[in-house]
Amino acid sequence: MTKLVLFDIDGTLIRTGGAGVTAFERTADTEFGIPNGVRHLNFAGRTDTSLVREFFATHGIEASRQNFERFFECYVFLLDYLLPQHYGAVCPGVAGFFDGLRALPQAPLVGLQTGNIRLGAEIKLRHYGLWHHFEVGGFGDDDEDRRRLTRIAFERAGRRLGCRLAPAEVLVVGDTPHDIDCAHALGARAAAVTTGGATREELAAHRPDWLVSDLTELSAAELAAPATH
Ligand SMILES: [Mg+2]
Repeated sequence: MTKLVLFDIDGTLIRTGGAGVTAFERTADTEFGIPNGVRHLNFAGRTDTSLVREFFATHGIEASRQNFERFFECYVFLLDYLLPQHYGAVCPGVAGFFDGLRALPQAPLVGLQTGNIRLGAEIKLRHYGLWHHFEVGGFGDDDEDRRRLTRIAFERAGRRLGCRLAPAEVLVVGDTPHDIDCAHALGARAAAVTTGGATREELAAHRPDWLVSDLTELSAAELAAPATH
């Protein structure tokens, strides 16, 4: 059975209507004096930390601890300010899916595996009233490499539950090929939704265990059943 469900955030649980990218852009401009400084970055499936490192490298800014702290202090402030000004939304089916998970006879632990830094994740999910669902997570400031975050969340969940989880007891829900690859690298199952930027064809090429338009098409009970493959 599934004992742990790990969610990606952007494009899977919520869409911020551009607030996240705008917060990055304005931080580059106001804190580092570089307008349009993050235009070239491809945000999907990346960690915030790796995006900032690429921004620093492109513009000849020293990738010092102090500069990362400057960037993220400004970013979280702006994110909090900008979220209410953008037309974002919770993705379809999210509320019902959480209800379904909670209603299971043995409800799984629910967590995050996301490239967002922890505070950024919290600000986004608090804004949309979802933060209270999550007990554990792997975040973009735990490791710069997106591929390691799923394992970090998995190991934290094991410690939280006080038992050794098997990868087959883990389900990852995400909207990018990265999410599917991270799940499979761990040995977990992957459910892919097309509510983010990736197309059905792009996701299908990475062979998710479920591929749906949004979470209204997934039943928590079905996902929580034992792996049959
Ligand atoms: Mg995503």
